[in-house]
Amino acid sequence: MNRKIAVIGGGAAGMMAAVQAARAGALVTIYERNDRIGKKILSTGNGKCNFSNEKMDLSCYYGSGRKLIPVIYETFGVSETKRFFQNLGMRIKAVNGYLYPASGQASTVLDLFRYELAELSVMIHTGQQVTGITPSGNGIIVKTEQGGGQYDAVILTCGGAAAPDTGSDGAGWKLARQLGHHIIPVVPALTALRCKETYYKQVAGVRCDAKLTLYVEGGIVCEERGELQLTDYGISGIPVFQISRHAAYALREQKHTIVTISFLPDYDQQTYEMFWQERLQRQSGQTMEAFLTGIVNKKINLLLLHLAGIKAAETAGMISESAMRKLQNLYRCLEAEVTGTNPFAKAQVSAGGIDCAEVMENLASRIIPGLYFAGEILDVDGICGGYNLQWAFSSGTVAGRAAAGQVNREKR
Ligand SMILES: Cc1cc2nc3c(=O)[nH]c(=O)nc-3n(C[C@H](O)[C@H](O)[C@H](O)COP(=O)(O)OP(=O)(O)OC[C@H]3O[C@@H](n4cnc5c(N)ncnc54)[C@H](O)[C@@H]3O)c2cc1C
Repeated sequence: MNRKIAVIGGGAAGMMAAVQAARAGALVTIYERNDRIGKKILSTGNGKCNFSNEKMDLSCYYGSGRKLIPVIYETFGVSETKRFFQNLGMRIKAVNGYLYPASGQASTVLDLFRYELAELSVMIHTGQQVTGITPSGNGIIVKTEQGGGQYDAVILTCGGAAAPDTGSDGAGWKLARQLGHHIIPVVPALTALRCKETYYKQVAGVRCDAKLTLYVEGGIVCEERGELQLTDYGISGIPVFQISRHAAYALREQKHTIVTISFLPDYDQQTYEMFWQERLQRQSGQTMEAFLTGIVNKKINLLLLHLAGIKAAETAGMISESAMRKLQNLYRCLEAEVTGTNPFAKAQVSAGGIDCAEVMENLASRIIPGLYFAGEILDVDGICGGYNLQWAFSSGTVAGRAAAGQVNREKR
């Protein structure tokens, strides 16, 4: 007899789990609290849905579930994901390895899921929040305010706590906790950092190439290079997003957290000294404002000048050696003391989640027979670049097939 499966949460992981379970012969029902499925997908990749990346390795992921990734991606990785969408009719475009639907529309991904779910006769209950999951005999009872039902297996794909306006507000962790699972502390990730200094308003709106180094309690944690965006409260942009989960965990433990910014990441110390000396020889008669023009964005030049205690109208050749050295160093090492991250409402993902020591390689719960997990609800978070949706699709596939009783092996 066909297995009856409930998928709780109709996001990226839930839709993929439902498709794969139904393809494996299960009778599948999705419960989604929003009035439609897949709401978050529409806002991914600035509306273009960066669903995966050609460069895929373990260094792109964090969390206790990291160790599961090789096994899960061996079953359903980037090439299987591409083929899945191509078989549904989607053309794919790669931009520096970042994969998108060629339509340029995230809605393409959602539409293709909707058509396939309909084709497979998956039942979709929208506007139904699951409030309880109870093991019962050989099955599991799912409770919603409107009713619910009894199932052979349940796949929990409620997402994390990021972007709660799309439906994921941490409710899934409450359900998992009630069933005996433990949650690794959750923090906002892929988000901007708030900083202590008071001068950010002066440079808000500036975007520039920079190298960032994150220090926690004086030790280097990681480095990132890319387009830095300065905001009126601190720092943002992709390199900041990439380091934000480390900063968030450090701040959670009340550790001293600093980011140093190099606005001139291409120079090593020696070439930088030469660059500066040549400039001094050539332009020492200029005002400092003119002397600095052309190094980086003017607002940054003026800020660093101010921080070095030098006036814009002073003549370059007249500046004391120590003040000039201070200015020179600021270009390569401006300190930003981090006081917080942006909240979950402005984060792309949450780091933390269900402890993956409590799930098997096929994403079945080690605690409740018949319960499976997939997506952001698990303690796995990826860097920017399509890694989080890839995790949702890979884990959704593995959980969906396993819940349906199918051995997880992709046909090659
Ligand atoms: C602005 C933004 C841009 C992003 N861009 C990218 C990108 O370009 N590339 C990338 O890889 N990742 C991106 N991400 C991250 C990515 O979207 C998520 O990691 C991914 O969607 C997680 O999928 P999920 O299915 O686990 O959770 P979700 O997509 O959050 O889905 C969970 C679903 O469960 C429902 N739900 C929750 N609780 C219940 C309940 N009790 N009962 C019923 N339903 C429930 C929710 O309403 C929701 O629909 C972005 C995120 C944001 C916020």
